[in-house]
Amino acid sequence: MSAALANPAPVTHRLGDEWLMAYAAGTLSEGQSLLVAAHLSFLDDAAERLAVAEAAGGALFETVSPELMAPDALARTLARLDAPATPAPVPVAPRVGADDPLPAPLRNWLGGGVDDLKWSFLGPGMKKVKLWRGGPNDQRLWMLRAQPGVSVPKHGHRGTELVLVLKGSFSDPHGRFRPGDVEESDDNRMHALGIDEGEECICLALTEGPIRFESWPARLVQPFIGL
Ligand code: ZN
Repeated sequence: MSAALANPAPVTHRLGDEWLMAYAAGTLSEGQSLLVAAHLSFLDDAAERLAVAEAAGGALFETVSPELMAPDALARTLARLDAPATPAPVPVAPRVGADDPLPAPLRNWLGGGVDDLKWSFLGPGMKKVKLWRGGPNDQRLWMLRAQPGVSVPKHGHRGTELVLVLKGSFSDPHGRFRPGDVEESDDNRMHALGIDEGEECICLALTEGPIRFESWPARLVQPFIGL
């Protein structure tokens, strides 16, 4: 077991409670649920945070005036909250395999480890694998595998982008992101990612619509990489 896994740094960039509430209520897409479950598996207090989010979500629904909702909306919402099985994966299982950086929910969904995936060329020192596409706003779930010191070209987004670090780390103007950390970007935010030295970096990303690259060389290759 590596020292990083034996003594993981605390997760400092956490997903907001609105994501956990939606996850607990089962209203996220499959790709979003997987990313949230993967993030939660890095947190020591995931079960407590989920319980709080679930209770907060229920309280929120109870305060909405019934006249403002469809006749059966409240009943349907309560039924969903009471349902014994939500479609979301169970997030609290321990990570499997000391050498594989995939958290259990992702590993179970993929049915294998990081080296079983069909990685393809993304750019110099970078590989990608597409995992899923669907949900509202043309969501794409994919993974990035980048060598130490590599730069991901400056880009923006057409919607929300969530990037969860699984191994290694990267830095951008918004901070340094290590295993378990999530960076949430929206369509107002351009950024370039610098992969930190020392170790490869593997990230799970959920993007809405195609990424918007700033430079023309990156835009030229975009049709071929399909992201
Ligand atoms: Zn981005």
